[in-house]
Amino acid sequence: MAAVPKRSPVVRPSREEAEAAVRTLIRWANDDPNREGLIDTPARVVRSYEEFFSGYAQDPTEILARTFSEVGGYDEMIVMTDIRFESHCEHHMVPIIGKAHVGYLPDKRVVGISKLARLVEVYARRLQVQEKMTVQIADCLQKVLKPKGVAVVIEAAHQCMTTRGVHKPGVGLVTSRMVGAFRTDPSTRREFLAVIGRTGSGSLPNT
Ligand SMILES: [Zn+2]
Repeated sequence: MAAVPKRSPVVRPSREEAEAAVRTLIRWANDDPNREGLIDTPARVVRSYEEFFSGYAQDPTEILARTFSEVGGYDEMIVMTDIRFESHCEHHMVPIIGKAHVGYLPDKRVVGISKLARLVEVYARRLQVQEKMTVQIADCLQKVLKPKGVAVVIEAAHQCMTTRGVHKPGVGLVTSRMVGAFRTDPSTRREFLAVIGRTGSGSLPNT
């Protein structure tokens, strides 16, 4: 008996179908998709989507595949701070804009530092929930690089909260994921939080 697939594969619509869907949403907004200013909008929106959601076509484990082991005995934590990202919330499909701080404690192997930024970008360029994205980045880094620990903190503003619904501009959501030494060793965690400029025990949610 053939194995039942866990999830049916997503059938990607054609570009024409995607543009037709944008015209439907313009009509839903009560405007006329055939007026001059809007005539090219569906094509532009569809192209924007290709950029916003390009992360689905990329394999995050591949980004981390190339590692270096010659680090001159370096065994302290490596932290990349303030990695700016733009994502889209999967509940409203509006932007989440923020920054990620990614750190790890290497176990002999390190990755090129730009790879940490690319890892954030691959997950950001998908429909997201900030909590999920935080875990995905940390767990991928832990799984592929196998360091002694990983720490990820994300601070972001959600336009679904600032431009609609509760209309609360200026509020930010902070999420974190601590793995390995960052979870078990308070001094390692403190050092990381000091590097990213977040000191004080009340500044992070539990992970
Ligand atoms: Zn939302």
